[in-house]
Amino acid sequence: HFIKVIDEKNDSINAFVEKNYEAALKQAEKIDEKIANGEKVGCLSGLVFGIKANINVEDLIVSAASKTLENYKGSYNATVIEKILEEDGIIIGLTNMDEFAAGSSTETSMYGPTENPAAMGRIPGGSSGGSAAAIAAEMCDITLGSDTGGSIRNPASHCGVIGFKPTYGLVSRQGLLDLSMSLDQIGPFANDPSGIALALNTIVDYDSSECTSLHSDIDFTSVLEEKSLEGMKIAVCNDFIEVTDDKINKVVNKAIQKLVDAGAELVEVSFDHLELCLPTYYLINYVEFFSATRKYDGRDYGYRIEEVCGDEVLRRIKMGSLISQKEYSGKYYKKALQARSLIRNEINAMLENVDLIVGPTVPKLPHKIGEELTPMEMYVYDILTVIANLGGIPAGSIKAGEVEDIPVGLQIQAKPLDDLKIIKAMSVLS
Ligand code: GLN
Repeated sequence: HFIKVIDEKNDSINAFVEKNYEAALKQAEKIDEKIANGEKVGCLSGLVFGIKANINVEDLIVSAASKTLENYKGSYNATVIEKILEEDGIIIGLTNMDEFAAGSSTETSMYGPTENPAAMGRIPGGSSGGSAAAIAAEMCDITLGSDTGGSIRNPASHCGVIGFKPTYGLVSRQGLLDLSMSLDQIGPFANDPSGIALALNTIVDYDSSECTSLHSDIDFTSVLEEKSLEGMKIAVCNDFIEVTDDKINKVVNKAIQKLVDAGAELVEVSFDHLELCLPTYYLINYVEFFSATRKYDGRDYGYRIEEVCGDEVLRRIKMGSLISQKEYSGKYYKKALQARSLIRNEINAMLENVDLIVGPTVPKLPHKIGEELTPMEMYVYDILTVIANLGGIPAGSIKAGEVEDIPVGLQIQAKPLDDLKIIKAMSVLS
């Protein structure tokens, strides 16, 4: 069924950039055999996955949508891929993205832009735009993306689907091509909370090879039937509302009202360091990305990254190189790390007294594909999503409603390891 849908729709949507039909059909046959033999099947049995093109899948071109890696064939499966296959999930292909996940529109891909199936002619958001669009166009059941500063939640919001960034360290990053390793996190997209919960039950696991990995025994499916938020305190933050388009706030408020109707207590909070968030995020991103790209020097993968990459990737490499110089480190990078501590402390302090922070995911509507934006205009899309990455906290986006027929997301954030509370709130809204 999904092969048919992808073949029908992908020419216009451009969500998938690599197809894995043969292996997918083989995996499906294997599951059928298991069932015929009366063997136990995994919890993802028969569910079909799309994977962002920066996560290693054996034998597929894992290019991160960059010419730099156009000849790189995945030589192994990322840890999350192994886990999906072990649970009898089926991998149908790789999805489009901004080059090296550096962007918010999926327009910088070497494969060309992805359409927003929920608002044709507009960007799907990014950088995991292909993964969000694939769900919105019902091309598969679940997709994986990566979120460094919003790349799961931003396209989920623009495409009207659910996207979830787990607590930093809950999901192994082994096999993910990093953008900024202290911020990167793999997470799922789906049309309903049960898809998100099943994916999380599969990919959340301790990874002894990562010093940042966390232990957890959360059963993400345990709250799917919940309809009451009695006893839960949720916060709205006026500083987030102030930077957001009024029309978006209106729609988001309606979704928040549903949480209140389900029994949640609403309180107001403030966030003093919002203006520090984008500069802090981008400084750290530039430095870590610069360091991550030094391996693309032409020896192993064919091209030297600086010679073939697009403008945004080049800007980050140049800025990262400059900021990393010893004489500047005190001026920029160390300051960014100090600012990051301030932001982390403030968001965690805020969450000490409440269960969830709720508000808009993205402050403005997605632009039309091809519209020229300055780098700063592009970065503004991220202002409400980077906080969760800087703080390492879990955050998800679920459709709140529509503004001018364009989907708008409600962002829900929680304390580290309180991921389940987000799923609970999403279940109430679904
Ligand atoms: N838009 C942000 C950036 O360009 C976030 C990207 C991401 O989360 N991968 O860095």
